[in-house]
Amino acid sequence: MLRLEGIHAGYGQTTILQDISLTVDRGEVVTIVGANGAGKTTTLRTIAGLIQPTRGKIFFEDRDITSMPAHEVVDLGITLIPEGRQLFPDMTVEENLSMGAYRKDARGRQAETLEHVLSLFPRVRERLGQSAGSLSGGEQQMVAIARGMMARPNLLMFDEPSLGLAPIIVQQVFEVIDAITSTGTTVLIVEQNVFNTLKASDRGYVLENGEIVLADTSEALLTNDHVRQAYLGI
Ligand code: ATP
Repeated sequence: MLRLEGIHAGYGQTTILQDISLTVDRGEVVTIVGANGAGKTTTLRTIAGLIQPTRGKIFFEDRDITSMPAHEVVDLGITLIPEGRQLFPDMTVEENLSMGAYRKDARGRQAETLEHVLSLFPRVRERLGQSAGSLSGGEQQMVAIARGMMARPNLLMFDEPSLGLAPIIVQQVFEVIDAITSTGTTVLIVEQNVFNTLKASDRGYVLENGEIVLADTSEALLTNDHVRQAYLGI
C-alpha cells in the first residue's frame, strides 16, 4: 500500500533521513522504533507531504506521491495524528471532530462516521460539548485519535500517541489502537513505548540516526538482542 524507496529528507541544508526504504501492506500494523531525534517524526511528516524529500520515491497504492502537497496526500486517505495532539483548544470536542472530516471522501458521511467513532470512544461522546482545551491529557489524545478516524483514513499514522500520558491512560490508548487495527485499518505507528507497540503490530523498523538498521516481524524484534538492550532495557 505504502512504499518508500531510498528516501533522503531533512530541514534546510540538514539531511536527517538517509536512504529510508520501507513498506506497509494493506491491513498491516507497522511500527518505527527509534530513540529521541532518530528521525521518526521526520519520516511521518515526509510521508504526509509536509516535508519534500531531496532524493528517493514514495508510492501509495502504486501512485507516485513523492512531490504531492500535503492537502492532496490527505485526500488520498493518508491521515497523520501528530505528536502533541494539536487540537483546537477553544473549539468544542464535536467541532474538533468535524475538522477531521474535511477530506473529500469523509465529508458526505460525517454523521455515520461520527457514530462509528463515538462507539469506539464512549468517553469522547460524554465530552462532545466541552472545549477541547479543558480535557485531561488522556482525553485529548483520545479526541486526537477520534479526529483522525473522522477522515475515514486508508492509512492512519500515529506519532507518539502515548507520550506524556499516565500508565493507565497509555493502556487505554493501546486498547483503542487495537480496536482500530482489528477493523482492518492500515496503521504506521511511531512510539517510544516499544514493548506495547511491537506487541500491537505485525512488523517493525528500527531507525537510528536517520537510517534503518533493522527490519523484521514484531515478534522477532521483541527477542532481538539489540532491541532488547537499546529499547526494552533488558
Ligand atoms: P522524538 O521522539 O524526539 O520526536 P524523532 O525520532 O521523532 O524524535 P525527529 O523529530 O524526526 O526525531 O527529529 C530528527 C532530527 O531532526 C532531530 O535532530 C531534530 O533536532 C531535527 N529537527 C526536527 N525538526 C526540525 C526542524 N523543524 N528544523 C530543523 N531540525 C529539525
